[in-house]
Amino acid sequence: MAISIKSEREIQLMRESCKLLADVFQNLENAVKPGMSTLELDALGEKLIRAHGCTPNFLNYNGFPASLCVSVNDEVVHGIPRKDRILQEGDIVSVDAGLIYKGYHSDMARTFGIGTISEDARLLIERTRQSFFDGIKMAKAGNHLFEISNAIDASIKPYGYGIVRDLVGHGIGTSLHEDPQIPNFAQRRRGPKLHAGMTLAIEPMINMGRADVEWLDDDWTVVTEDGSLSAHYENTILVTDGEPEILTLY
Ligand code: MG
Repeated sequence: MAISIKSEREIQLMRESCKLLADVFQNLENAVKPGMSTLELDALGEKLIRAHGCTPNFLNYNGFPASLCVSVNDEVVHGIPRKDRILQEGDIVSVDAGLIYKGYHSDMARTFGIGTISEDARLLIERTRQSFFDGIKMAKAGNHLFEISNAIDASIKPYGYGIVRDLVGHGIGTSLHEDPQIPNFAQRRRGPKLHAGMTLAIEPMINMGRADVEWLDDDWTVVTEDGSLSAHYENTILVTDGEPEILTLY
């Protein structure tokens, strides 16, 4: 499938979709605290998304049963919210969610610390975030897609963390997952050329230990094989002829 180039009208709709999602995340970040269940967080997220007149795009996606993916500590992504999963002081929790506004999808993720977290955990979250910003420096019309992948890899390499290889970023627009796939680790090829008007969800997933992950028996939750902590940072961005526009920033 070709990578879609959004028209000016579509870009406006993407901007609006992403702005509303960023507002949802701002509220979630303010609300998340020790003692809260991951199901409560999901309920709040869904309420906020619907209050904007939007639809949660993760809900029922390939049968996913919730609006938010909520992944705690060694859970990398796709954690299913549960009533009996209570957030504890010192946990780190990755929240990944998106919404549909007038047919246009947005997608973002953040890892939040619950109360006071260890210095190692704080650094993992900060360096994962930084790798996103190092990656998107390359997201310019005329560059090639895998320059983003290589820059994320180079950003993380000095720390010896594991870069998750089994899951990647993606194009986004009238579908949640469009072409191209965007790996977060170095590539031998250049990948497709970037053009203004491409909208991409770039999302490094970084493990404190090794890169290997496995799927739990619920067929959704992805965890680190070695039990180490994992962080996730994602924004939907717009490629332009100049600097990329981060559409989900707050
Ligand atoms: Mg995504």
